[in-house]
Formats: sequence, structure tokens, C-alpha cells
Amino acid sequence: MSADTPRQLTFALLRRLADGEFHSGEVLARQFGVTRATVNNALRDAGSYGLTLYSVRGRGYRLARPLQWLDADAIRAGLGAERGAVHVETLDHAASSNALLLQRALQGAASGTVLAVEWQSAGRGRLGRTWHSGLGDTLTFSLLWRCESGLAALSGLSLAVGVAMMRALAELGVSGIGLKWPNDVILNEGKLAGVLIEAQGDMLGPSAVVIGVGLNLTVPELLRGRIDQAVSDLASLDMPVPERNLVLAVSLKNLASVLREFAKRGFASLRAEWESHHVFQMRPVKLTLPDGSLVTGTVMGVTDDGALRLATEQGEKIFHAGEVSLRGA
Ligand code: ATP
Repeated sequence: MSADTPRQLTFALLRRLADGEFHSGEVLARQFGVTRATVNNALRDAGSYGLTLYSVRGRGYRLARPLQWLDADAIRAGLGAERGAVHVETLDHAASSNALLLQRALQGAASGTVLAVEWQSAGRGRLGRTWHSGLGDTLTFSLLWRCESGLAALSGLSLAVGVAMMRALAELGVSGIGLKWPNDVILNEGKLAGVLIEAQGDMLGPSAVVIGVGLNLTVPELLRGRIDQAVSDLASLDMPVPERNLVLAVSLKNLASVLREFAKRGFASLRAEWESHHVFQMRPVKLTLPDGSLVTGTVMGVTDDGALRLATEQGEKIFHAGEVSLRGA
């Protein structure tokens, strides 16, 4: 029995339970050709994926709420005219979709390859931070983009990705969202989505860029407690949570078109749109620099390569995203 088998069984059972209805342990055991004890053991792990599972004698197992699974065909169907631009692969598990796609990039994966992962056990954020997700609650995916320009030309890219996510969410009917420099999507002052860009190549090019996005559909209390900043999710909106596969398809569609725009004209052509969404535009903020020191000032906007323009007591200063964190002052 391979080490991955128990997890595969757990996922297969959870797929069967996705409707949120009761399923008898006996029937599940028969369908999967295992004993009831094996079913019970496999489902004991549900909690570690952030799920609440009820087990009721005489009735069976039921998830506290239905689960939306990723479905490559549904995602492809939602891509419309961009169907040829991306190639989507769905995976049950990866430590980090970015790390896996970076590996695939080294092995020659094509531009437009997308890995969408049901469960990330070691999701990454900037500066070695952790991206937390529960099974079915967040969308975590990475897109590989190869471009002729070198890393030096890519400095505004993470902001461009923020613009793509804003366009995608608007297309899905989500309102009241904004951006926080360099690229978080904010809803009701909490972080709705984060972006992590990792690149291979040299300053002159060509480059292989992996764009990772984590977007919260529903953040259960259990998960909220693990996150050290304000969090928000689509479930808190006054509308039904958009279908997960559709959210992914619409995000990819908008990413593909924004990347084309970025390749032609750079971030400059997206700058005004980005600034119109910045929740801290012309507002006082504080920045934490890599050495831990703080700088305060008023946000004037961003430069054509995505750096933050801050009016300080010593005049206007420019900050590159690298290792800077921004908060409202
Ligand atoms: P900052 O907002 O401090 O500048 P960052 O943009 O560098 O952070 P990211 O790399 O986007 O951060 O994401 C990592 C951070 O996001 C974590 O340190 C944590 O505070 C927060 N976080 C982790 N998981 C989630 C989640 N599911 N939803 C919202 N925020 C999260």
C-alpha cells in the first residue's frame, strides 16, 4: 500500500460526501471495497482538512456543509475564448502549488500551465509566510507564464495580477473590493486574496514566472484563528458564493488577458486602473521595512514599475515591494 493511499481514500470518500447529505458507512464500505473500520479511519482525518464531519449512529456520515470540488472540464468550459491560453490540471494535494509548478517549469512545462490544488499542506506567502487554506474553502492555484523579457522588466507584474483579480471579481458580480499595495485583494478591511509571484531566469530574460493566487471563498472559524491579520471571504457578501470552478475560470481568463497587456505595454498601461482600486490611495499608512524600521506617510500612488510613492516629512519616497509590508496608519 503506497503512503498516499489513505489520503486518496479520504478524498474519494469526501467527494462522495460533497452533497452534504447523510451517507451510510456500510454502503460507502461496500462501494469502495473496504471495511467499515477503514471508512471510519479514513474519515477521521476530515478535521485536519478544516472540515466538520458528523457521524450519526444508524444514519452514517454527513459534512456540515456541502463541498465544491474542482472539476477540470467545468473550468475549461468557463474559459471561453481564452481556452487555448491556459492548460488546467487539478490535483488533490500539493505542499505548495507554486513550488510544484516551479519544479515543472524547470522540466520544461509550457507557458499557460495551471495547477489548481484542492488541498495545500504548506501554502506559501511572501517572505516565507504561510498561506492557510481548508479543503474546498479557498481557491489555490498557480499559473506558469513564460516571457521574453528578463526579471528586471517584471517589477510591476504582481500589481498587474491584482488588477486581473479585480476584473475577475467584478465579472463575478462581487462589489466593495479593493487592492492593498502591492497586491492583496481586500474586502471589508480583511484580506480576501493574496498573490505570490516567484520567478526563474536572469535580469535580461527570458523568464519563467509562477503566479500563485489564494482566494477565500469561505473561511471557517478554525482557520481564522490561525491567521494573524484581518481576513475576509466571499461567503460574507450579500450574495450566493460564486461556484468555485467558475471563480477559477474567470480568474484565469482575466489573468491571461492582463498578462498579454503587460507583455505589450508593461504595468504603465494598468497603473491608473490599479490606483483607482487602491484602498489606501491618498491615505496615511505605515510601512515596515526589511530591517524592522517603520516609515509613515501618505500614499500618492504607484510608479510605472509598481513601486509605492509615499509623501513623507522628508519629501516623496519610493518603495519597491520586495520586503515591505503596508498597513493603515
Ligand atoms: P502583508 O499583508 O503583511 O504585506 P503579504 O502580502 O506579504 O503580507 P502574503 O504573502 O500575501 O502576505 O500572504 C501571507 C500572509 O497572509 C500570512 O502571513 C497571513 O497573515 C495571511 N494569510 C494566510 N492565510 C490567509 C488566508 N487564507 N486568508 C487571508 N490571509 C491569509
